[in-house]
Amino acid sequence: MGVMNVRRRLIPTAATAGAVALGLMAVSACSSSSGAAGKNGDGKLDVVASFYPMQFLAEEIGGDHVSVSTLTKPGVEPHDLELSPKQTAGLGDAGLILYLKGLQPAVDEAVAQSGVEHAVDAAGLTHLEEHGTEAGHDEHSGEEHADEHAEEGHDHSEAGGDPHVWLDPVKYSEVAKGVGKALEKADPDHAAAYKKNTDALVGKLDGLHTKFDKGLKNTDTRTFITTHAAFGYLAERYHLKQEGISGVDPESEPSLSRMKTLQKTAKDDKVTTVFFETLVSDRTAKTLADDTGLKTDVLDPLEGITDKSEGADYIEVMESNLAALEKALGAK
Ligand SMILES: [Zn+2]
Repeated sequence: MGVMNVRRRLIPTAATAGAVALGLMAVSACSSSSGAAGKNGDGKLDVVASFYPMQFLAEEIGGDHVSVSTLTKPGVEPHDLELSPKQTAGLGDAGLILYLKGLQPAVDEAVAQSGVEHAVDAAGLTHLEEHGTEAGHDEHSGEEHADEHAEEGHDHSEAGGDPHVWLDPVKYSEVAKGVGKALEKADPDHAAAYKKNTDALVGKLDGLHTKFDKGLKNTDTRTFITTHAAFGYLAERYHLKQEGISGVDPESEPSLSRMKTLQKTAKDDKVTTVFFETLVSDRTAKTLADDTGLKTDVLDPLEGITDKSEGADYIEVMESNLAALEKALGAK
């Protein structure tokens, strides 16, 4: 801290003067507490992440300069998260909140009411698309990877984009860059470190994208079936066709006609595997697999990491997702 102050006095540029002014504003806005706004006793920036993919970004980019807490506990399905009064109250003190609007309504509402100075909506850092949120809509099948169809045949409101952007390494990398910028703004003292860590993470995500691109280039089939339709962006990126059993909301029950359509798709497209995920019941996946004589395997939407996850972090689990897809699609 002292070092930074000295440096600011030595180089009184417009930018540093602005940063000081901002810092003063933040401190004065922050009741009577003596520390800098949003910092804990160790001088680390308190970052609240809504769920695992936001936590991973905060930890990778924030490194030693942040203390990250996550609203969605490991192993809890995030879509229907309810916040405790303590969690809601804590949001107001955060140095930075990182969330993804449209995924967890309770979080969206609590962030809006928190009055926190730095809140970043990851959905605003990339471009959201619609992927047919109701799996029962048969007209969506077959046009999953055509951008030009994204606006067509849907009567949802503008805000109803598919939130699962983190499952496309390219979109996730766009989000990572925005998160890096937000951290620089919320904690200018460590801007250089955030910048460096962002570059390192973007490099890792580029590498992951290259692996997916190569690994899924040449396959026996392009179609995969999965319990909840979380992989729309991934499918689009790598020219695959996702058939979701129960739509973007993992808890919704598939209709009988949807199950019939999937049985036919499985046959027509030479699908080998029905994927289920780690946090939600695999009952419908097993039913469909039994009815069609297909195998089941795990495709992890990475909405949380537990000791059951097939990897310790985002990159590792995505690599095991790639391996599962290569196997199921008959990659050559
Ligand atoms: Zn989901």
